[in-house]
Amino acid sequence: MKDLKLAGSKSTRSIIKIGEVTLGGKEIILMGGPCAVESSIQMHQAAVTVKSSGGKILRGGVFKPRTSPYSFQGLGLEGANYLVQAAREEGLLCVTEVIDAKSLDLVIDKVDLLQIGARNMQNFELLKLAGKAKKPIILKRGLSATIEEWLLAAEYILAAGNPQVILCERGIRTFEPSTRNTLDLSAVGVAKELSHLPVIVDPSHAAGRRDLISSLSKAALASGADGLLIEMHPNPAEAVSDGPQSLTPEQFMTLAQELGVVAQSVKRVFVCGEPKETLESLRLEIDRIDHNIIERLADRMQIVRKVGAQKRLDRVKDISREKDILQRLVPLAEDLQLSPELVKKIYALVFEFAVQSQIKSKLTQEKDLESLCPIGGK
Ligand code: PEP
Ligand code: MN
Repeated sequence: MKDLKLAGSKSTRSIIKIGEVTLGGKEIILMGGPCAVESSIQMHQAAVTVKSSGGKILRGGVFKPRTSPYSFQGLGLEGANYLVQAAREEGLLCVTEVIDAKSLDLVIDKVDLLQIGARNMQNFELLKLAGKAKKPIILKRGLSATIEEWLLAAEYILAAGNPQVILCERGIRTFEPSTRNTLDLSAVGVAKELSHLPVIVDPSHAAGRRDLISSLSKAALASGADGLLIEMHPNPAEAVSDGPQSLTPEQFMTLAQELGVVAQSVKRVFVCGEPKETLESLRLEIDRIDHNIIERLADRMQIVRKVGAQKRLDRVKDISREKDILQRLVPLAEDLQLSPELVKKIYALVFEFAVQSQIKSKLTQEKDLESLCPIGGK
């Protein structure tokens, strides 16, 4: 490829130093965070997780190039401030995507790295501007770009004067509909053969579903990736964008714990962090558990109502069933060093509300029936 004058392979690989982080060396660099910045608390929670997982770079989009003009377009500068503040508090670097000259101007002095997304890989004016920026650029591969086109896009940035380019494989569009895109892991090896630039992998936008992220991440390391860029959200169910592909903080942490051995098997290093037990992180943990408790209680009540529909109104309260449940739960609580008194008190309330809700739905059921076939009606 004769036009890869600057991006083409040379005798040594490029190592990009950003503060204390070295990309393209022996160490695997983990980057994580939500697709879009939504709030200061969301970014703080994400940053705590990235840090305690051994991640070095916090991600979060504030200018979102969305497929539909009606989808959330990002918080802009306000979002960038949340991203930067969360990263600084945890001692992380941060990256956000820029989509044009204006967005680049707004964030260039704030964030540590800039991302050019798949949809802008051949936005040549933006590439030239990125080439003038004194910040490392993560250049994603376009959805239907060949490796040569991707490397030529990198060449634009290098030719404009910025040597700090990191290539990012994020899946390409194929005929396969079961994933959002198809992660092209051969591209890691090919790009590293043709170019000296570091190559990272974003499994999230390739898969479009969180169940594949762990295996794809490990495969990416095995295929020679220098780092991973993974979407993670403190509460993916409520994410404004890309929730289905976002890992939960727990899943992100678990994955990080598993990356070390994979890295070692390809003579690289990844050190997972230790979860930091600060008052804040413990409270975050409690908040997550509370959220789960309420969701499970709502599930229980939903089933309770279905059970109610199968009972006679005068049999709604079932004392022997309540006893049965407690006989199972009290020893469980004891095993888990939880006060049996607490469990009994909570369940007395749960049973009371369950009975009330069953009676209520039975009464409305009967009323509905009556209105359908009124007694003594015409
Ligand atoms: C992103 O990283 O949020 C993003 C939009 O990625 P891509 O450009 O790879 O689709
Ligand atoms: Mn996304």
